[in-house]
Amino acid sequence: MTQKNLSCDILIAGAGIAGSALACALRDRGYSVVQVEMSDRPLDTARGDHFQCVVADILDRWGALPAFWAAGAEKRHAALYVTETGAPLLDVDYSTLPIPHPYYIYLHHELLGETFLKLAAENPNYVLFRPARAREYDVGPEGVRSLTINLSQDAPAPEGFAPGDTVTIVPRLAVGADGRTSRAREALGFTYDEHEYDNPIVALFGPRLPSDDDPRNTLTSFLGPNGSISRIPRAFGGWKVGTTIRKADIAFWKTATLKMRKAAVAKLAPELEALDLEVGGFYPVKLLNTHKWVRGNAVLVGDACHAMHPARGQGMNVAIRCLDKLVNLLPDPKEIADPETVAKRLRAYESGVKPAIDKVLADNHARGQAYDSHDPAVVAESIEMFKAIQQDPERLRTYRMGSAGYADPISSAAAG
Ligand SMILES: Cc1cc2nc3c(=O)[nH]c(=O)nc-3n(C[C@H](O)[C@H](O)[C@H](O)COP(=O)(O)OP(=O)(O)OC[C@H]3O[C@@H](n4cnc5c(N)ncnc54)[C@H](O)[C@@H]3O)c2cc1C
Repeated sequence: MTQKNLSCDILIAGAGIAGSALACALRDRGYSVVQVEMSDRPLDTARGDHFQCVVADILDRWGALPAFWAAGAEKRHAALYVTETGAPLLDVDYSTLPIPHPYYIYLHHELLGETFLKLAAENPNYVLFRPARAREYDVGPEGVRSLTINLSQDAPAPEGFAPGDTVTIVPRLAVGADGRTSRAREALGFTYDEHEYDNPIVALFGPRLPSDDDPRNTLTSFLGPNGSISRIPRAFGGWKVGTTIRKADIAFWKTATLKMRKAAVAKLAPELEALDLEVGGFYPVKLLNTHKWVRGNAVLVGDACHAMHPARGQGMNVAIRCLDKLVNLLPDPKEIADPETVAKRLRAYESGVKPAIDKVLADNHARGQAYDSHDPAVVAESIEMFKAIQQDPERLRTYRMGSAGYADPISSAAAG
């Protein structure tokens, strides 16, 4: 049990999807990377589990795709909007789009994280402290000077360290990837706007039925007078079903029998009554947008700086698209010891990419509010919008490209 110091090129606080994806992207670029994750449990399976087509392209460039197929990832070729009785409104088919990977990739959230971390460990200069909480930052105008962590007494420590050690990490560049309640954000003094949506989301899980067989592995969203509900394909033959519920109804969903759950789901989409669904969890939904991302040598990524409503399945996808821009702007390992260069590159990243994310958040918020609303008039408006898009070939193509992650503000963000 001793005090040790550890210098590194890049410190990453948090190993959710944003932190683990970053460690993966950095693995073959010559940096020494230290990652600190407070939880030793798998990530929550109900969270984001579908990578957009554009993210498939990024993973391909990172040399990461084979590892995801090996972990059991599957392809989804379409998203379909239908009425509550299943009448088609809008068919967002990706398969004929002129893009390198015309499909979404889906895999359980915790397996996405594990796969990224397995790849990150290929870096010979990578150390993961887990479980260890990143709390004690020494911060100045130049960013993060150091972070001191206490290693658990009860878990094995990485080579060269022992359980119970106190380690002071001195990074050349520090990344806060510690999620919506980010301690890094607080330590660095970043201010933010936030909006709490009225209604939480309930996530339900169940097996697919033989009659659900579908070569496109379609994600179907049902819209009707009682609200909307989505049936989302899950790897290894399952469904995830998600809908917004009133806070007061959480008690009902916690105690409902299978028969009661079937009846509640059938009110939104009679077709879903056939599914044997178990409750996976309840999610209060918040938008959070920090006013800045960068201070000196420190930068925030993922939900720590831009948490959004899951209605459009964007949070994790946006994070990875930002990371792709960030890693391309980092000083190379020879230059990273120069604090001026680090700060300049991070500022270039912020000024190039943040305006695009502000637009994405505004657009996401509009959709989030519609999804949050239980007002039949709002759902009826969405139905009319989807019908109009389906009937106009140009709008339909733009919508499909946007949904795939192309031709949107992030694609055109000039980082650098
Ligand atoms: C129900 C639901 C469905 C969703 N569906 C989608 C979807 O389909 N598509 C999509 O793109 N997004 C989706 N999202 C959003 C997506 O899951 C998140 O945007 C994404 O997981 C955020 O990743 P993150 O790594 O930034 O944050 P987090 O997942 O919160 O990870 C932060 C990590 O940091 C660790 N940590 C926190 N504090 C500390 C500390 N002090 N020290 C060390 N470690 C710390 C945590 O333990 C955690 O592992 C969904 C979200 C929800 C709730």
